[in-house]
Amino acid sequence: MGDELQSPGELVSELRESFRSGKTRSYKWRKTQLKGILRMIVEKETEITDALYVDLSKPKFESFIHEITLAKHSCELTLKELEHWMKPEKVSSILTAFPSSSKIVSEPLGVVLIISAWNFPFLLGIDPVIGAIAAGNAVVLKPSEISPATSSLFARILPSYVDSSCIKIVEGSIPETTRLLEQKWDKILYTGNAIVARIILAAAAKHLTPVVLELGGKCPVVVDSDIDLKAAARRIVVGKWGTNNGQACIAPDYIITTKSFSPKLVDALKITLEKFYGKEPMKSEDLSRVVNSNHFSRLTRLLADEKVSDKVIHGGERDEKQLKIAPTLLLDIPDDSLMMQEEIFGPLLPIITVDNLEESFDLINSKPKPLAAYLFTASKKLKEKFLNSVSAGGMLINDTTIHFTNTNLPFGGVGESGMGSYHGKFSFDAFTHKKAVLHRSFVGEVSARYPPYTPRKQKF
Ligand code: NAD
Repeated sequence: MGDELQSPGELVSELRESFRSGKTRSYKWRKTQLKGILRMIVEKETEITDALYVDLSKPKFESFIHEITLAKHSCELTLKELEHWMKPEKVSSILTAFPSSSKIVSEPLGVVLIISAWNFPFLLGIDPVIGAIAAGNAVVLKPSEISPATSSLFARILPSYVDSSCIKIVEGSIPETTRLLEQKWDKILYTGNAIVARIILAAAAKHLTPVVLELGGKCPVVVDSDIDLKAAARRIVVGKWGTNNGQACIAPDYIITTKSFSPKLVDALKITLEKFYGKEPMKSEDLSRVVNSNHFSRLTRLLADEKVSDKVIHGGERDEKQLKIAPTLLLDIPDDSLMMQEEIFGPLLPIITVDNLEESFDLINSKPKPLAAYLFTASKKLKEKFLNSVSAGGMLINDTTIHFTNTNLPFGGVGESGMGSYHGKFSFDAFTHKKAVLHRSFVGEVSARYPPYTPRKQKF
């Protein structure tokens, strides 16, 4: 089990001592831990996918491609690039300090806290840990209590693959997290909703601790008519229901298209849904369930809102016992409905129609900035307008969600969808202080620099 016998204060003191010993700084230590994590992912793949199945009935193949493969890739990339990332970066020096040299040194921050969410509980836990270790920190991971099988698996297996004097798991819910947040950390990376993010930020402010907040929002999909409709429908459907049945921070939240094109788009979505999940999607093995009864009730409330209840054009079936909701399409729900005001985070997808697609940008901009925004179009002009007028954590043209897998891109939100970013080198940077170092020679003195500032010197 984790470290529940230790108080949070003792835990942080132990980690601080380990960090001060200097061992986490060496390339060798970092490499050994990363290799341990990689070995854990490979050796425990079945246990990991089993835990994800218990927590979410996540289809095994989905767990493999989204959680196992991406975590492995992150680890392999970091192992490959780490030595290079750790090297000080030489930059040009300044004439006024001639002769001198300047460099940026990547320094570990110290002891960092990672608080992760339930929906991709393995990847969202281990991926920031990889970044924190790569940057040479001691680290605590607090997995989500909403995905208890994955949380306890972490606590059971991670300590035997890494140096547990520097890398710890703390399991628990609000009380345990609150006690952790009372401690002084050198960085906190939190993944979850924007309400709790405010609690994290307030706790961090007390110690002036910097944070990365990985939040969510309503990710729009704007669909033009000049597209490969079949491909677009496939990419929307897999991005929505193939990512944990819509319980993903970057899953499409709502579609905007033109009134004239909507019948064709709706048909294509329905055909694709049937192709992917059959005539009886409630029986499909390829859809995760809703995580728990609280979220099931939340989604039921969104559907029961009288402003939307007669707008369902596909799906709508629910089974409370199995926590299942069928992929559901709704057409033209009002903007003041709960469903258009809150992040849906589930298998419901409203389609909003407008006369002209450029109107959609105003609709998107009237809401808090989303974590991702998607556009399907062949028009260069529309694409440029979208890029220039819509603000979002990330953007993807002619597909959904896959930008998340490109580790050359930073992953993070803006405004209400978060602050800071990680993935690939951005994870290393997120847990690193960029220390500015200028090294001077004793030659090259300019007397005008020193008092007294005589009139002669001031003419200089
Ligand atoms: P959650 O309930 O698992 O909570 C996240 C973490 O916050 C957990 O570890 C939990 O223990 C902790 N927590 C909850 N309440 C707390 C409190 N009062 N004080 C301190 N800690 C507390 O996850 P969630 O919030 O339901 O996650 C869903 C949200 O997260 C959605 O908005 C989604 O878009 C977002 N999300 C973002 C990303 C991303 O990478 N940007 C990824 C996944 C989910």
